[in-house]
Amino acid sequence: MTTGQQAALMALRGARAAYGAITVLHGVDLAVAPGQVLALLGPNGAGKSTALNVVAGIHALIGGSLHLGGREVTGAAARDLAAAGVCLIPEGRGIFPNLTVRENLWMMTGTGRRRAEIEQIAFDRFPVLHTKASQVAGTMSGGEQQMLALARGLATDPAVLLLDELSMGLAPLVVERLYAQVAEIARSGVAVLVVEQFAAAVLDIADHAAVLVRGRVVRQGHPDSGIRSELAALYLGSDPS
Ligand code: ATP
Repeated sequence: MTTGQQAALMALRGARAAYGAITVLHGVDLAVAPGQVLALLGPNGAGKSTALNVVAGIHALIGGSLHLGGREVTGAAARDLAAAGVCLIPEGRGIFPNLTVRENLWMMTGTGRRRAEIEQIAFDRFPVLHTKASQVAGTMSGGEQQMLALARGLATDPAVLLLDELSMGLAPLVVERLYAQVAEIARSGVAVLVVEQFAAAVLDIADHAAVLVRGRVVRQGHPDSGIRSELAALYLGSDPS
């Protein structure tokens, strides 16, 4: 499968997933190439997080297949996918709020990199983390905590970066800045798959977008190709309560 001109680094083909007897992904096809941002959008409960968890090996497929670098890796354990370069930054940031910024980064030495290297990668991309290196992470702003989560992810030298609701609880300007960084991370050659419920900011940087509704991709394409109006219609039609 290709995404535009480039071969996909990560692809889901006909992915089906369930919780017990309830199927929540009904044959999902997604593909993302190195250097690209794919936005997976859709309303609450559509199956977006489940799709990310499938790619990270945290949730099993009951049908279809997962491919990495052209090889089928369906059923591979999460730790093996992580070792192959798949990095999930879960909803809620996945940092340790009671530890300092530096301690949060040092925990990533398990990936084989030295503390100094991890700090350099983090502080080069997010200078504000350098100025707050000794601060307890949970006392930073939401945007800074999300930067720390991204920096921890970068310490793993990811080939495929999976981001779940990066914008959660953050002001629009903060989200815009974070997505500018995500775009730069992609340009360095990483394949990025971003899940968002509220789409606007990510569509500005996405190369490709897919709209998931009740476990099915109802539309895929370039972010300009009517995807914005499709989403507007979906959210207007949904019950906000
Ligand atoms: P949200 O933004 O609300 O998380 P989503 O698009 O990410 O939505 P998922 O979290 O993947 O959707 O959920 C897809 C469906 O699976 C929903 O109907 C949800 O209720 C159900 N679901 C999710 N997690 C579980 C679980 N642990 N056990 C049972 N059902 C679940």
